[in-house]
Amino acid sequence: MTSVPATSALPSVGFVGWRGMVGSVLMQRLQDEGDFDRINPIFFSTSAAGGAPPSFADGAGVLQDAYDVETLATLPIIVTAQGGDYTAEVHPRLRATGWDGLWLDAASTLRMEEQSVIVLDPVNRSVIEAGLAGGVRDFVGGNCTVSCMLMGLGGLFRNGLVEWGTSMTYQAASGGGARHMRELLDQFGALHSSVAVNLDDPASAILDIDRAILAKQRHPSLDATQFGVPLAGSVIPWIDADLGNGQSKEEWKAGAETNKILGTETRIPFDGLCVRVGSMRSHSQALTLKLTQDLPVDEIEAIIAADNEWVRVIPNTKVDTVSGLTPIAATGSLEIPVGRIRKLEMGPEYISAFTVGDQLLWGAAEPLRRMLLIATGNL
Ligand code: NAP
Repeated sequence: MTSVPATSALPSVGFVGWRGMVGSVLMQRLQDEGDFDRINPIFFSTSAAGGAPPSFADGAGVLQDAYDVETLATLPIIVTAQGGDYTAEVHPRLRATGWDGLWLDAASTLRMEEQSVIVLDPVNRSVIEAGLAGGVRDFVGGNCTVSCMLMGLGGLFRNGLVEWGTSMTYQAASGGGARHMRELLDQFGALHSSVAVNLDDPASAILDIDRAILAKQRHPSLDATQFGVPLAGSVIPWIDADLGNGQSKEEWKAGAETNKILGTETRIPFDGLCVRVGSMRSHSQALTLKLTQDLPVDEIEAIIAADNEWVRVIPNTKVDTVSGLTPIAATGSLEIPVGRIRKLEMGPEYISAFTVGDQLLWGAAEPLRRMLLIATGNL
């Protein structure tokens, strides 16, 4: 065990996984909001213990060993965005020492455990408060697509207006991590290179270009290590593990986590297909909802808009949709646009909606940041 620097009366918070994708966004948000002034951060690493702390953390000591449970156990709060393997290995060992501090986690490992709460406080603050009061010590960020969906459509769910729902997702490459984003860009580059000469010639035949692209996409030299198959110029209608019943794990999470976050007593059926697309960042999803009653569209929009300060209803016009309801519009913003809200032909209770959100913000870093503030009495 190494001693960690204790400064002032601020609560000490251990950070693991701070340099990964989710961790980097979390660190940026903590800096942007001045949150490091409210805590005493201790940084851990699985790969560089003893190394220098991050440049933004003035006065923080050297990096601690993220596998050293004795050192971890000296802290009242640990925040990890390291990943599921780390959680599976370290969390049980740490709890076995008798540690009863707060564990805040971006990985899915503990999400559905009975003793954990999925955090998305604009939607389920009461569930979080009840958990804290009832002795829950593990608080876990939700699946990114589920969290973004509930930030957008939470108003309908929380007012008991959703009888059931189905979502068809369009999930960005960044959902897989940094290496997946790089692979997608490398593939785009390789495809472009293979037809660059033809593209420069306005007289070249489009079918020749099309054939050359397809040949490149199918050629084994196109690196698809991360996604398993090419994504550039294609889609992959399967995300995460095969549960063996025709459903992907990502699809299972949609129903399971939606109900757990909301704390529903009677399960709201929620299911659909999850699809990886070639966008960089921000997950989109098209939804069909069966409402419990026939409400006018303007009333539905008002309920959605009133739910939290980040949701934005996009008018259901072509011009507003194509400019405001895309991953490019949503990326880097905490705002969650929701649009394409209209009645469907199936009946007056059936509506469509489309929502998009930066999954590294509301889908990962922001609920953890806010849970840290709640845990330290700052929110
Ligand atoms: P990631 O980018 O792969 O980072 C995880 C860890 O990998 C880092 O903390 C770092 O640990 C290590 N690492 C190794 N090489 C690295 C490099 N070149 N750059 C940065 N880090 C490197 O994973 P992530 O996407 O942030 O995901 C973390 C967890 O959050 C996962 O459980 C994931 O399922 C979950 N999550 C992800 C998203 C998303 O959209 N990506 C959304 C919600 C939840 P050391 O510093 O200790 O070496």
